[in-house]
Amino acid sequence: MKRDDGRPLDHATRVVSAGRRAEWTQGIVNPPVWRASTILYDSVAELRGRVNDTHHRLFYGRRGTPTQWALADALTELEPGAEGTFLYCSGVAALAAALLSVLSPGDELLLVDSAYDPTRSLATGLLKRMGIGTRFYDPLIGGGIAELIGEDTRAILMESPGSLTMEVQDVPAIVAAAKARGVTTLIDNTWATPLLFPAIAHGVDLTILACTKYVVGHSDAMLGSVTAAPGHFARLRDTSFQLGQVASADDCWLGSRGLRTMAMRLKQHEASALKIARWLAEQPQVARVLHPALPGHPGHEVFLRDFKGASGLFSFVLEGGDDAARSALIDGLELFGIGYSWGGFESLALPVDPQRYRSVTTRDDAGPVVRLQIGLEDPDDLIADLAAGLDRFERAKA
Ligand SMILES: *Cc1c(COP(=O)(O)O)cnc(C)c1O
Repeated sequence: MKRDDGRPLDHATRVVSAGRRAEWTQGIVNPPVWRASTILYDSVAELRGRVNDTHHRLFYGRRGTPTQWALADALTELEPGAEGTFLYCSGVAALAAALLSVLSPGDELLLVDSAYDPTRSLATGLLKRMGIGTRFYDPLIGGGIAELIGEDTRAILMESPGSLTMEVQDVPAIVAAAKARGVTTLIDNTWATPLLFPAIAHGVDLTILACTKYVVGHSDAMLGSVTAAPGHFARLRDTSFQLGQVASADDCWLGSRGLRTMAMRLKQHEASALKIARWLAEQPQVARVLHPALPGHPGHEVFLRDFKGASGLFSFVLEGGDDAARSALIDGLELFGIGYSWGGFESLALPVDPQRYRSVTTRDDAGPVVRLQIGLEDPDDLIADLAAGLDRFERAKA
């Protein structure tokens, strides 16, 4: 459906209807939990007949049930131009399956230097052991990536904004260079989701989400997805089947449930995070705020050009001070939890040390770095909490 003015439906509308096929929901509003391992057949002939036609038909639990198909379908619908989606038990499992569907021994991966740390470990651990080399590249390389593409380069993995430091990558320029050389492109799109950055429409071949974050949205389930452009889905699905990948029906149900409010949640995460980021930028204890929507941030112009908005995760660099002073700030926060992950309804603060996860780029931060996930609490309450934290930092520093 299109609106009278010819524009496609808004995200807030699309996330409500996505994946809710009547034959799977049977009239129930949100696709319910269909748990299964064994599926029973009426006869040997039916059992044999089904083998060659398992797509969206009950076959065996590992191939999923309408609970998984509904969420996968919904995520495909949210990526204009995509062919299909496969779901995984975590974001890292999704990244691993996507890379293994593309790379073979002897191939080389170009991996952004600001990638999520477990992605780096996958490349330097398992992939290396399988005879797949990795070269890291500067997140701001843009079209300059063409010079790094060699004989064996088979894939380029992007993540934009980068983990911890939020550099925004010039995805269209990297995709153009990759296409010219027949190299497959992948992106970890967890921060933006397809609502803020439709990766397939930007020419990316495989887009990966840690659904654990904004899709689930309530910090109560682990889930991952890979959505493929036409021509890339069959190999992704076959690889994932061969790896025995299946996301649990219960967790997919939580994913579908979270998805319905994702557009509205993202708007609030964006507004609150921006308000807090701008406030932090004015505080004397803060050397720099690492948020893609702030002028001067690495890749800010690309962000304005390509993204439809920001989500709720960003970092800031303290002015001087050491690890102990940073801990004084974080430990006393009352409204921010201290913990990994993000994308839920609750705010989190995490001490991070980006330089430990860099191979080809260096940082000279003025002090320790804190990453904030801004949840759905009132932003002024969060600012008051952070203000008290910066006072503690100041005293601990002296
Ligand atoms: C959390 C995260 C992942 C991994 O997701 P899990 O579900 O925790 O495995 C991948 N990429 C990014 C950018 C993340 O923040």
